[in-house]
Amino acid sequence: MTDAPKTFRRAERTGRWAEVDVLAYKAEGAAPFKDITRQVLFGDPNLACELRYFEIAPGGHSTLERHEHLHAVMIFRGRGQCMVGDRVMDVGPHDLISIPSLTWHQFRASTEEPLGFLCMVNRERDRPQLPNDAELGELRANVAIAAFLDSA
Ligand code: MN
Repeated sequence: MTDAPKTFRRAERTGRWAEVDVLAYKAEGAAPFKDITRQVLFGDPNLACELRYFEIAPGGHSTLERHEHLHAVMIFRGRGQCMVGDRVMDVGPHDLISIPSLTWHQFRASTEEPLGFLCMVNRERDRPQLPNDAELGELRANVAIAAFLDSA
């Protein structure tokens, strides 16, 4: 239990907490992404889930991916769009987004504001899959998704 977090960690400002490191989203080059950080708010090994906080700078985006594990997301700050399956939605503070198993998804911040969101996820999880060219072509056949993928 040596790595159990402190009982109380103070919010230092919006999206920053005492004793919570701001980490790289993923290893550079592991997958496409832009201007996004990761913080593990709750990652106790005795919990079956983790709660992370991701923040995407204006104009940035998460990786377009899918995986067997689920995401339960609450938007925390800012504005942006998310793609889940065949839907593209404008999102803002306190919206809830459920990402089902093996469903393509991506988050994009607006060009004016960052997009910060909380994401609950299984502690044990499979590796994300990236779309191949054929799958990307199928996604782009949807004009709303094509516009989303081409947005700044
Ligand atoms: Mn994901």
